[in-house]
This record gives sequence, C-alpha cells and structure tokens, in this order.
Amino acid sequence: MEFATFADRAGTIEAEPADLEIVAHVETLLEEAGDDDLEIVARFVQGRVFPAWNSTTLDIGPSTCYEAIARAGGTNVSADDVEDRLAELGEIGAVAASYDFGGQQGLDAFTGGGAGDGDLTVREVHGTLTDLAAAEGSGSHDRKVDLLFGLFNRCSSDEARYLARLVLSEMRIGVGEGSVRDAIADAFSVPEDRVERALQVSNDYGRVARIARDEGLDGLDAIDLEVGRPVQAMLAQAGTVTDALEEWDEAAVEWKYDGARIQLHHQPAATADGTDPGSGETRVFSRNMEAVTDALPEVVEYAEATLSESVILDGEVVAVDEEGEPLPFQDVLTRFRRKHDVEKAREDVSVRPVFFDCLHADGEDLLEKPLTDRHDRLESVLTAGSDASDPADVEGLSLLWLTDDADEIESIDAEALAAGHEGIMLKAPDSRYSPGRRGKHWRKHKPEVETLDCVVTGAEWGEGRRATVLGTFELSVRDGDDLETVGKVATGITDEKLTELTELLEPHIVTEDGQTVDLEPAVVFEVGYEEIQTSPTYSSGYALRFPRFVGVRHDKGFDDAETLERVESLRS
Ligand code: ATP
Repeated sequence: MEFATFADRAGTIEAEPADLEIVAHVETLLEEAGDDDLEIVARFVQGRVFPAWNSTTLDIGPSTCYEAIARAGGTNVSADDVEDRLAELGEIGAVAASYDFGGQQGLDAFTGGGAGDGDLTVREVHGTLTDLAAAEGSGSHDRKVDLLFGLFNRCSSDEARYLARLVLSEMRIGVGEGSVRDAIADAFSVPEDRVERALQVSNDYGRVARIARDEGLDGLDAIDLEVGRPVQAMLAQAGTVTDALEEWDEAAVEWKYDGARIQLHHQPAATADGTDPGSGETRVFSRNMEAVTDALPEVVEYAEATLSESVILDGEVVAVDEEGEPLPFQDVLTRFRRKHDVEKAREDVSVRPVFFDCLHADGEDLLEKPLTDRHDRLESVLTAGSDASDPADVEGLSLLWLTDDADEIESIDAEALAAGHEGIMLKAPDSRYSPGRRGKHWRKHKPEVETLDCVVTGAEWGEGRRATVLGTFELSVRDGDDLETVGKVATGITDEKLTELTELLEPHIVTEDGQTVDLEPAVVFEVGYEEIQTSPTYSSGYALRFPRFVGVRHDKGFDDAETLERVESLRS
C-alpha cells in the first residue's frame, strides 16, 4: 500500500466524529492492505510501529524530529523555525504538513533511492523506522536524523502529517483499540469476542489481523500465550469489603504489596538427557510490558533457583532493607530505571519478587481458569522449588485467604499494613484473568489517601536560586485523545528532587516561552490532593485543591494517566 493511501484514509478517519463510521473506515483500510502490508497498517492506524509486546522504541525525541523536518524543508528552514511553527499551530502533524518537502539533494546514501524514486509505501516507512530504531551508540543521532529526513523528503503534505505523528507517538486520529478489534472482526468475518481473546493473548494487532484474514477463526483460536512475550496486566478498581462480600459471598484476600508490578517469563534450561530442549531464559517485564530483566537481577536469580517448569507469573517486586523489611515504593522505581551500575544500585536498594498469579505453566494457558485454580498452580510451581512445606514459608509466594468473614478480612488488612504494605486486594475467587482490564473482579482496599496520576504537560522555570530548575508543574488528565488541565503542583518537592525532575522533563520540552515551557505528555506524576472543585481556571473545568507532589510514576505513561471521566466521578 502506498503511504499516501494510508495518509488519505487516516485523514478521513480523523475527520469522522462517529465511532461506528470510524470502525467502517478502519475496516476498509484493513481490507485494502496488501498481503504483507496488513500487519503494518493495523499498527500504524493506532500510531504504533511495533507490536505492543515488543519493547523496541524509535527513541526519537521531538528535537530529532524537528531537525529532520527542518532539513527536508530546505536550506532556509531551521529547527527553530519548526519550533516556532509548532507554537503557532500547536501540533507536529500540522507543522510537518505546512512545509513543501521533496527533492532535497544528497539523499541516495540514506534512502537507497530518494526523491523521484517512486511513491513511498507503508512497507518502506516501516522498514526505515525499523532501521532507525536499531541505530545505537555514537553517531546514532545523526543516523536517525538522516533516515527520517530521507522519509520526509519523499512525503507530500498529508503523508508528512501522519509520518510526524507516527514517529512522535502522537497519531491520535480517534482510533482506539476497540475500533481496530471491531474492524478486524468485520473485515474478516470473525466474532469480536474471539478477536478480543486473541488480542489479549498476543498483544499484537498486526498479527491478529493477518491470522484472522489468512486462517480465519481456527487460526485465531490457536493463538496462545508465548513464554517470553508479555501480556497486559489485569488491573484493579478501588472497592470496599462490604461490596465484595455482598457480590461474591466469599472473597479471595491477598496483601497489596507496596512495590511495582512485574511479569516473569521463565523457560527452564535444557534437561541433561535432552528430553526438554528449554532455553533457560528468564525475562522480566514491567506493568507497561517494558523489558526490565537487566535492572532486576534478583528476580532472575530467584527464577533460576526456584523454577523447574516453563511459566508466566504475575507479581510485584518490593524493595527491602537489610532486615528484609519493605522500603517505600519510590525506592523500587529507582531500581526499575537503572540501566547502568545495576550491581551498585543493588547494594543500596535490593528487591525481592512476590508472585500472586500464574498465567501459564508447563505449556498450559491458565487465563480462563478460576483465580483459585491459578493460585493453586502458582503454589505448586513455587513450592516445588522450595524446601518449605508450609506455603507461608515459601519464598516469593503471596498468600491467599478465602473467607466470607469481614472481621477476618480486617485482621488480614491490619497485618498487611503492619508489615509495611499498602492494604489488601479483594478478588472474585472464580474470576478469569482479564489482561489489560480494570474490572470489578479485582478490588484494591487501602487506607484513604487520595492521589491522582496526572500527565505533566507544562512547567515553569524557577526564580533566583532556582532559575536553572523547573519548579511549577502543570497537570493534565486525558479526555479521549485530548488533554485537559486540572491544576499545578509546586509543593512537596525538595531542591534535590527538582533537579532530578528537571533532568527527567527537559528532553520532553516542546516549546519555551519566557519562563514557561510546554512539555510533550510523557511523564506521569502521582499527586495527592484534598478535594476536587469545579473551576474556570483549568481547561477540564476542575481543579485539585492543595495538590502535593507524591512521586513520579516511572512505570506509567500517557495511556495510564487518569481520565477526565474519573475526575468527574471523584467529584460526585
Ligand atoms: P496503585 O497506584 O494503587 O498501585 P495502579 O494504577 O498502579 O494503582 P491498580 O490496578 O490500581 O494499579 O492496583 C493494583 C496494583 O497493585 C497492581 O498493579 C500491582 O502492582 C499491585 N499489587 C500489589 N499486591 C497485589 C496483589 N496481591 N494482587 C494484585 N495486585 C497487587
């Protein structure tokens, strides 16, 4: 498929307000995609270059993209001009579309062809972006700019609009995951719930679309979990013990560990007699399916020492002090981000894993099994590698209590809090594991401290002594693809922390106007507040009263930030 056709369809979709019509347009797009293009098109239309399970990123900041646009724009255009136009037009797609690209000299070295080499295809765009993602080490910045320039240089105005958005993960044409799921079902005449299952298991819209087209329902149903490829984590709602007991008669109660979510994928090593050719590979993923294996050697060591079956386990990694007592959640996150000197970081803060669910064991997918069966399986997997016979003594196993007694639940809650954890989880004993869903089957119960996870969309440079650090941060929540402001936070932050936050946010600066900067919505702050009020000051119509910085949610991104709908529901 020509990239121009894709861009044209994307334009139609963007202009379409009705959800059903959007699905119909995506369906047409999928039907039009040629044999090898379907996988790419199914991802591009959601603004993805790679499948969700694949943690490869393009690793392109806004400034790299501006540089490439400026170069393709001609000798009179500088990256500053691009930034100025962005301040004026407000969106990178509109900026890219406003230039007249094409025919800059000296292309052949980068594109293997260049302007006049025929129309750009989605496959070429994908191929070049894949090369770009692979560029590493010294010279990689220049290589990325070269490759991107080569693409922009062949773009028409419309193509440039969607290329720029794709590259900066800002596609936002109104195509949600549900629209692509429904479009796959309609285009290839397969039931939506089976497409949904295949998507949950594979996390790969491209592959599911291709299999639906080429192999139909049988092919879809044959897609299974794969050890080594992450699945989206099942999430929880806030909930009360009374509601849980009323709805389920009996609740499965677990401690809510104060750490960060991990998913462990482990294949045992090959057996000496060759009956099992296992790879011996262990991989660890974060809540957002990023690979964090290298940052958490303790988890790998635990898996190698404990596991003798191939498994996918869901759990939490907790930071502990020398006595094994839990440390605050922020300490865990410093370990997650650590890419270098991991051994040194480990001396300062060590972590240990605790597992509460088992999604796959020894070739069998367990997503559809009741929670209690999955927990039994988890227990048998971990007990097999332990000297302990009492589950309470099995290292890394989160205990589960089945009870209908509110008093017993209260005492489990008190124990969890006394042990330094957050509270308890209440789970429906017979519920299946629903990847990526925040449903009623998992409920978190913790002492009331109201916090919201907001995207930081702007900031202000400080004054005087603090002139070199960002000091006041604008907070926003999601409203569909848009962002609406809910307040600013400046309290609860030490000087040291401000320096750290400035380093974190600076690469995301999009435009700067005096003391004020606009940021691309990439960093999420957890912010405490006393109350939510209606307010004309912020675009959401609401304001957080007494906002207080709690921490950076390094494990969350734009898609995990709170929604306006949630803010509205917290008000009522
Ligand atoms: P929070 O900020 O409250 O952790 P969240 O948005 O990160 O919320 P939620 O789904 O709301 O995630 O809360 C569930 C989280 O609690 C899980 O993602 C996991 O990291 C953590 N957790 C700790 N112990 C458990 C447990 N026993 N079962 C499930 N999740 C647990």
